[in-house]
Amino acid sequence: MLTAETYFDKENQMKYFGASQFKAFEKCEAAAMAEIRGEYEREKTVSLLVGSYVDAHFEGTLDLFRAKNPEIFTKQGELKTNFRQAEEIISRLERDEQFMLYMSGQPQVIMTGELFGYPWKIKIDSYHEEMFIVDLKIMKDFTPVWVDGEGKLPFIEAWGYDIQAAIYQATEGNHLPFIIAGATKEKVPDLALMEVPQYKIDTALKIIEAKIDRYADIKAGLIEPVRCEHCDYCKQTKVLTGPVPYTEGYDE
Ligand SMILES: [Zn+2]
Repeated sequence: MLTAETYFDKENQMKYFGASQFKAFEKCEAAAMAEIRGEYEREKTVSLLVGSYVDAHFEGTLDLFRAKNPEIFTKQGELKTNFRQAEEIISRLERDEQFMLYMSGQPQVIMTGELFGYPWKIKIDSYHEEMFIVDLKIMKDFTPVWVDGEGKLPFIEAWGYDIQAAIYQATEGNHLPFIIAGATKEKVPDLALMEVPQYKIDTALKIIEAKIDRYADIKAGLIEPVRCEHCDYCKQTKVLTGPVPYTEGYDE
């Protein structure tokens, strides 16, 4: 039985696929595998923590979050500026009736299911049974994001939220609409309720289908993960073999 406590266990990360794990494989197979094995942890930036603070508020676990992250307070015991911003985002969101309505489903609902022959796990931020799946996202802003090799993409696609939508919809199993309840960390926070259109979900599902056998084989140790040679993990574990012409490999 998968619970909030065991959700990110090494054992369950190995057993199940999940939305962030799939996206990690898409970015760098070697880093994704190192993360699963517990050999590598993605950096916890202040910016990420601000998002987690807002998440924790809506989960009703803010006290626990504050206890686990003492670095968010000054020596005087006051919230640091960035987290006062998180408080501002929260009060802005609470002023909006529709936003709060969508966030008022069952919080943090964990489900497992089978997709393309493999077990998957999902954790829904706000679950409205038989109606919709809502995911809370706190981000820098809502503007398009540059993705190498693809150009400017709507932020939903740039961050793989369409992939997440497909995984959540398929694992939940009732073809429910996937809604992003988004807010920004701008000076004046913006907010939006955005539905991922079904045709975008269908496209994302095809991408998952095309890649998942390979990632499953990597997890099973049948094939070696490819190193991207650009991410933090690859930089940390890089071993030089001698000089190479600067015109090779550094011009991407
Ligand atoms: Zn890498």
